[in-house]
Amino acid sequence: MIPNTNAYWLANAHVPVPLLVGYPCAIAADLALVHLEIRDGVIAQILPGDQPPPSSAPIVDLNRGQVWCCFIDLHTHLDKGHIWERSPNPTGTFEDALRIVASDSHAHWRSEDVYRRMEFGLKCSYAHGTSAIRTHIDSSGEQARISLDVFKTLKAQWADRLTLQAVSLVPLDYFMTPAGEQLADQMAAVGGVLGGLPMMGEELDAQLDRVFTLATERHLDLDLHTDESDDPNAVTLRHVAMAVLRHGFTGQVVCGHCCSLAVQSPEESLKTIQAVKQARIGIVSLPLCNLYLQGRNPIDGQRLVESIAPRQTPRWRGVTLLHELKHYGVAVAIASDNCRDPFHAYGDHDGLEVYSQSVRIAQLDAPHGDWCRAITTTPADLMRLPTLGRIGVGLPADLIVFKARYFSELLSRPQSDRIVLRQGKAIDTTLPDYTELDDLITR
Ligand SMILES: [Zn+2]
Repeated sequence: MIPNTNAYWLANAHVPVPLLVGYPCAIAADLALVHLEIRDGVIAQILPGDQPPPSSAPIVDLNRGQVWCCFIDLHTHLDKGHIWERSPNPTGTFEDALRIVASDSHAHWRSEDVYRRMEFGLKCSYAHGTSAIRTHIDSSGEQARISLDVFKTLKAQWADRLTLQAVSLVPLDYFMTPAGEQLADQMAAVGGVLGGLPMMGEELDAQLDRVFTLATERHLDLDLHTDESDDPNAVTLRHVAMAVLRHGFTGQVVCGHCCSLAVQSPEESLKTIQAVKQARIGIVSLPLCNLYLQGRNPIDGQRLVESIAPRQTPRWRGVTLLHELKHYGVAVAIASDNCRDPFHAYGDHDGLEVYSQSVRIAQLDAPHGDWCRAITTTPADLMRLPTLGRIGVGLPADLIVFKARYFSELLSRPQSDRIVLRQGKAIDTTLPDYTELDDLITR
């Protein structure tokens, strides 16, 4: 369908208006009808769709099919991915996920195992239409060297297809040790981002001070896992915001999850949101994983500790205050998080699934508004990738072409027949076969 020529027109394309940059849209509509000229791998012209497209090049009539820019996946765990069949999580709880991943990594995470599972994730992501991925990397002790070496190799091998960023993942007290300082150096060496898991406690602010100092010294951005629980007393996000302000930190800070914000009183959550806004922190929500992990309790309301306990139906969705954060001017993104591991049994690194499910989970509709930016433009900005995650003249023709014309069509089917263009050329969107990993994932 897409000609293998250097120039052609994608005619009669429906482009979500919030994804367009530098193109005047007179009417406040969800979708703009446009013709896109693709030339030498970039978007050369965007013309209004109310006139026939010029016949200067072959024309592909999309009949109002939607055209998106490629997805930007801001928060993943490629190093944990696809271990479910050898290390399942029988209770589906966060606590058991932590324990089971630790045991799996101890037993299996040598170079080849990490490489092949990470590469499997990249193949899925690329075929679904993603162009940039940030992955957290479990980084305690010797695992940092093993996994970061693999990351460096894959980053180089995939450089022409995917922009990859790595973030360290350790408990925050790790940075109080010499190993923590060494880890900061390792993250700087891979052009990465400093990250970790803050927990409530007397040492929290001192730990944050240390992390901010290490990041400042090395000119690193920060990306932290905050408050992934239903405990209303978990307010590490507010402590992170205060640390940004205390340090006058000028790097970009991203905080992921922030689930507990949704179980606090409106007064308490607003205090945090205002601090987050002032500190210019970007928030990334992981709706699929949070829906999966949060609210798993037995009938008696205690923590689930055995898989045979009579199960309560979950009462909450687990996601943070996406609408309120956005309303108060905070940059809000959504991302895929874990795929087929003890933190989330499902998932395939598909940006459309993340968006589609997030629309349902968090009601990112009525109107759809600019929520399409949450999986494109906003994460691109938070990853400092200003030419990705948007559609405009002169930008790379890294696009996804759907048959679906309207949001009701886009969000009702998996769009498995989507066409992914990279630099104007249609790529092979065949997904990797699950059997590729069979020799690693024996049970
Ligand atoms: Zn995560």
